[in-house]
Amino acid sequence: MSQEGLNERPRRNARPTPPDDCPNCEATALVTRTILEHLPCGHTYFRDAHEIDVCTKCNATLTTDAVAYRGTVFACLSCRHVFDATARDGDE
Ligand SMILES: [Zn+2]
Ligand SMILES: [Zn+2]
Repeated sequence: MSQEGLNERPRRNARPTPPDDCPNCEATALVTRTILEHLPCGHTYFRDAHEIDVCTKCNATLTTDAVAYRGTVFACLSCRHVFDATARDGDE
């Protein structure tokens, strides 16, 4: 006799899944932050709600050609903890 009460499918999501709560304080007030890099100077920063026009490191005007997408992280509004949801389990 075999019992298969729990029928969980393996998750194979390519995109990072937003976590339910903060791994640090378990608060549920989380925001998604996009990491961008200014390629000429290597400065990485979070894309803010209001767009930034000038690099805060080298003062060059930010153009789409000079900015690369570096990933997405999640930030807790409660404790300001920043974490990567994809680091939870290590499948490749
Ligand atoms: Zn937190
Ligand atoms: Zn720069």
